[in-house]
Amino acid sequence: MTATEWILKLKTDGVLIEGTKNEKQYLHLQTPCKVHLTDNTTNQLRDSYQADQEKGGVLVAIPKRINGVTHLTIDRAIFLTNVSDAPQNSYLPDSKELNQALKDTYSGQTENSLPICFHTHPTHSDNPINEMFNYIFQCNTSEQDQLVSDTPVSVGDLSVLMPRSLVLCNRKLSDKMFIGFYNGLIAPIEFEVHRHEQTQKAMDSIFKNVSEWSKEGNNKWWLVGGGIALAFLIIRYNKSAIPLILMLIPMSQIFINDQHGQPKYFAHVTNGSVTIDLPG
Ligand SMILES: [Zn+2]
Repeated sequence: MTATEWILKLKTDGVLIEGTKNEKQYLHLQTPCKVHLTDNTTNQLRDSYQADQEKGGVLVAIPKRINGVTHLTIDRAIFLTNVSDAPQNSYLPDSKELNQALKDTYSGQTENSLPICFHTHPTHSDNPINEMFNYIFQCNTSEQDQLVSDTPVSVGDLSVLMPRSLVLCNRKLSDKMFIGFYNGLIAPIEFEVHRHEQTQKAMDSIFKNVSEWSKEGNNKWWLVGGGIALAFLIIRYNKSAIPLILMLIPMSQIFINDQHGQPKYFAHVTNGSVTIDLPG
């Protein structure tokens, strides 16, 4: 099968459909879509991650449309050389390697697949707390990432716009790996809105649990005591602790949207496989 025949077959199967953006026609994935990353892939991404520079490549996704849902199974990643002058904060794949990888993934020799381009953001810092903050605040797309994500791949006369992926690790304090999917005309181009929504949900459930716990027996006195102790510590020792405590709130993001819930658009993966929903 040629690459064009393969793309047309995916259109017939309902994996790809036509869409328009800025008056241009594209083929993009049909939603709802579920992306399955095997443990082989999450291990490969985690093992190859470098905290001090951006890396990237292509995730090899095997597509199938089953009962009105597009399934993409990713069992391996192809890494490409970063030829950027400043690899510590930007990623530019070697064009020869990229073309070869795209050629291999669109209608490969042994398996017909679709490519999802990915890159990483570095989190390195000598201070583990800074590294934690880097992990939280770098897990969003840059303006450049958003711009690049509108570039389709030409297969014959067809323009295919696949989502892209962002990967981050946080080695010093936990084994969490952030992996998210953006754009492709089926996902938001940034993760901020969803992260806020998730944080709000986590905070709500923490407050709910605390208030339920405080209703039981004498628990509320523990809560009052804890509040007074915390206030005392802040006044007695360090007023600058207040912003630090407020900054702990975004940290709660690290503990939510785990791979075992029903992660949407992104997940924090500790180990093993994960399925991420792109509901559309
Ligand atoms: Zn980026």
